[in-house]
Amino acid sequence: MLLERFFSILLAASTLLNGSMHTAMPDKDINGTLFLINRQHSVSERYIPEPIRTTETTGVSQKMRDDAATALEALFAGAEEDDIRLYTVSGYRSYSTQKTIYARKVRNTGSEKAADKLVARPGTSEHQLALAMDLGTRTDQSLSERFAKTKEGQWVYQNAHRYGFIVRYLEGYEDVTGYDYEPWHIRYVGQPFAEAIHETGQPLETFMSQYKLELYDYLIHLTSNEVLP
Ligand SMILES: [Zn+2]
Repeated sequence: MLLERFFSILLAASTLLNGSMHTAMPDKDINGTLFLINRQHSVSERYIPEPIRTTETTGVSQKMRDDAATALEALFAGAEEDDIRLYTVSGYRSYSTQKTIYARKVRNTGSEKAADKLVARPGTSEHQLALAMDLGTRTDQSLSERFAKTKEGQWVYQNAHRYGFIVRYLEGYEDVTGYDYEPWHIRYVGQPFAEAIHETGQPLETFMSQYKLELYDYLIHLTSNEVLP
């Protein structure tokens, strides 16, 4: 794991030295898997991820980016081997869909402030990247905290990283992520990163700032010709 991490940093450093800032800083690479989107970092109205396709999974028919869809199908198959049956509830949402959902929530709650607590503003939802999926069980697809207590929710928390997913909005980190605990929302980041992030027990925001520190550290070593430990 440490070795993988070292190589990914090495790769990022060499890309950075070659001048491709966006690929070297994976939280800025929208077509990568680590792109950071949250209340502070938004995505353009014009961005449409591709290729996207319908996932071949149980539940409501939903779309994801092809790499995430393949990983999700592996996750569902793995769950089934353990007698866990998961259901897809909500995957890709376009900017305009998110705009409609947000506007409806503003109308229903009476203010943007109240709506912001419940729904992401258009351009700030991971669902727009087609890398996120909301999950439910056969009997409960209401996307509530109850999911964490079910055997399905516990399986997801314990195993999602093996398939490249993280439970994105953790309990106790609401101030960091800007979201309430959402045990049902998983985000595709790719397998080595998912393993590393799961191991830290911290959200993507924290992982990314640590990752950048390590990268800068490595670059400083490189440019000052110091020998790495
Ligand atoms: Zn979600």
